[in-house]
Amino acid sequence: MTAGTFESDIPIPSEVKNNVFITSLDKIYNWSRRNSMWPMTFGLACCAIEMICAASSRYDMARFGMEVFRATPRQSDLMIVSGTVTKKMVPTIVRLYNQMPEPRYVLSMGACANGGGPFKEGYNVVDGIDKFVPVDVYVPGCPPTPQALIYGLLTLHEKISQQSFTNVPWYSKDDPMAGVFPIPVLGPDLVDLRQVDVIRQEALRTQGLERAAAADAAVSEEIDAEVAA
Ligand code: SF4
Repeated sequence: MTAGTFESDIPIPSEVKNNVFITSLDKIYNWSRRNSMWPMTFGLACCAIEMICAASSRYDMARFGMEVFRATPRQSDLMIVSGTVTKKMVPTIVRLYNQMPEPRYVLSMGACANGGGPFKEGYNVVDGIDKFVPVDVYVPGCPPTPQALIYGLLTLHEKISQQSFTNVPWYSKDDPMAGVFPIPVLGPDLVDLRQVDVIRQEALRTQGLERAAAADAAVSEEIDAEVAA
């Protein structure tokens, strides 16, 4: 260092100087964000028991600044989807996710949330919450142990450590609706509104096939009647 200044004796290219500044800010942002991540109070099935266990004194998630489970999405940074995701629950999950402020993260805990688990073929279960909200970390297991959940949380910490505020989507002004996910409609089945065009085309195609089949049947009936006469 030159005496009395903050200039280095070694010349530093301007782009690297900028990077040093941004990198330092990123480190501060990421350090504070990952060490004060508040999960939402949100349990769906048996996996939630292990999540509760991870928060209790034996495993003590408080070591990572995560002891404050919030009962409102407005104060939550992390949604832990812990358990079987039924079709009836999906609209609520997406609505809660939309209500969480950015930056927000989703951890999918257990086989059910990851891909339907043992109930994958069930009429009322979806095969993975990642079909509806973006998932940052998947924790396998049925159920995952508290240690596995904590490993998943540390993996999320690592992911956050790699983020830069220069390119994270929540500071982008390009698309203000980018973080809002369509809430699926629960009717006779779950309808994902992002798939409406595909559903409409398929319905038209099916209707067309039905009409063609009906016309074929009518023609066949006429031919049969003529033959009989
Ligand atoms: S993954 Fe296993 S333990 Fe977890 S909710 Fe599904 S059935 Fe229960």
